[in-house]
Amino acid sequence: MEREKMVEELAGIVGKENVLSSETDLLLYGYDASLFRGRPDCIVLPGSTEEVSKIVKFARANGIHIVARGSGTNLSGGTIPTQGGIVLHFSRMNRVLEIDIENQRAVVEPGIFTLVLKNQLARYGYIYQPDPASEKVSTLGGNFGENSGGPHCLKYGVTTNHILGAEVVLYDGEVIQVGGKALDHPGYDLTGVLVGSEGTLGIATKLILRIMPKPEAVKTMLAIYNSLEDAGRTVSAIIADGIIPATLEMIDRLTIKAVEESIHAGFPLDAEAVLLIELDGLKDGMERLAERIMEICRKNNVREVKVAKTEAERAQLWAGRRGAFGAVARLRPNYFVCDGTVPRTRLPEVLTRVMEIGRRYGLAIANVFHAGDGNLHPLILFDERNEEELRKVHLAGSEILKLCADAGGTISGEHGIGTEKMKEMLFVFNSQDIAAMKKVKKAFDPEDVYNPGKVLPEQTLSA
Ligand SMILES: Cc1cc2nc3c(=O)[nH]c(=O)nc-3n(C[C@H](O)[C@H](O)[C@H](O)COP(=O)(O)OP(=O)(O)OC[C@H]3O[C@@H](n4cnc5c(N)ncnc54)[C@H](O)[C@@H]3O)c2cc1C
Repeated sequence: MEREKMVEELAGIVGKENVLSSETDLLLYGYDASLFRGRPDCIVLPGSTEEVSKIVKFARANGIHIVARGSGTNLSGGTIPTQGGIVLHFSRMNRVLEIDIENQRAVVEPGIFTLVLKNQLARYGYIYQPDPASEKVSTLGGNFGENSGGPHCLKYGVTTNHILGAEVVLYDGEVIQVGGKALDHPGYDLTGVLVGSEGTLGIATKLILRIMPKPEAVKTMLAIYNSLEDAGRTVSAIIADGIIPATLEMIDRLTIKAVEESIHAGFPLDAEAVLLIELDGLKDGMERLAERIMEICRKNNVREVKVAKTEAERAQLWAGRRGAFGAVARLRPNYFVCDGTVPRTRLPEVLTRVMEIGRRYGLAIANVFHAGDGNLHPLILFDERNEEELRKVHLAGSEILKLCADAGGTISGEHGIGTEKMKEMLFVFNSQDIAAMKKVKKAFDPEDVYNPGKVLPEQTLSA
């Protein structure tokens, strides 16, 4: 269908002002936080479920693809319109529809920023736990699409543990409800299937979330190390001791340098690594737990453990962690985030090998990651204008994921597969596994209307 005609028809559904198609718009919606680029035919900003349903019916009838988009901060190319079509941007559907304190639930539209919901909940003394470092700008629809994680997911679980139900528009425009406010739902767990499906199975227009009272007390510590391996060993020793802190984050020397140059979080410049450890829960017993953690740190050659004494000190440490990706972005024109997961006990060894891969390709790598979950984020620094360097980045990234898979881990902790890691799916799944996933895609979206060419590789290995 000609773009002009498409724009006119879509304007009839959402209003002229909510369809974007200028050259600048097509350029802006052609990229996300990954290294990939595409080009949509137009961008549509729906205002209601009914409008989404009409857009989907129109797209299906005319063989047009649809890519759902929150803020486009995903790091795996999940929102790249690789085959053109409509980008469905949820910025207008950004309301909190209900906060139900008695039942500890919230109902929201998908376009709301994660932190905006959290700020509203804070007025009631409540919290929505998943906390991607991008929460200031990421949307709950995007968190749903990626099954996002964050520092506090070590103790509380990732997005899938906090989304209890959704209103979903299927490929033919039909609207269904999956899950709900109650704890258990009979029938298949379709909410579980849809969370993390990267916009390939259905489009969420409402989300039902689990919310929790804020913990009574919090204690935040910074453990400082002269060796990355000692920091890694401390992580598994803490968990092996039966302690699950709220967060257990690791930041290495290069990241510390970047953070200190821009955010001044108080991380020592001469350390090889720091661990940001936070306990939360009841006040009673917290001091004893903190003492035990410090003892484990000492056994693993910690240089010093600092405890945040005020809320301002805690906020400063967290600003350093949450701003780390942004700070690293100042070191070189580009960075590429790998997102592999390994069993915690393998962290020291895998980290050493990640740095070896960097040296072999002549690429600098900074590390800042959810160590408690064994979820590595090596940030490979480069300049995309240098084609040879870019080629090496892709090779090094793939090698790091293979290393994680071979160490008994996997190729994504939280950033999804998107356009970027389809080939690497074969590191962890065989052809039967992939074929089963393709059947799920076919059942939900037999005509490939939603986000085509993502997640599942075309070719499969023989089993
Ligand atoms: C600096 C930085 C830090 C980050 N830190 C973290 C982190 O700590 N943890 C983490 O997990 N991620 C992190 N991310 C990655 C990213 O922020 C998350 O994946 C986030 O959930 C994406 O949200 P978004 O609104 O930008 O979604 P988008 O990027 O717009 O979309 C993500 C996926 O969801 C799909 N989607 C969007 N809306 C819907 C909908 N309504 N229905 C169905 N599918 C939909 C899209 O099609 C796409 O596949 C970080 C990214 C950056 C840039």
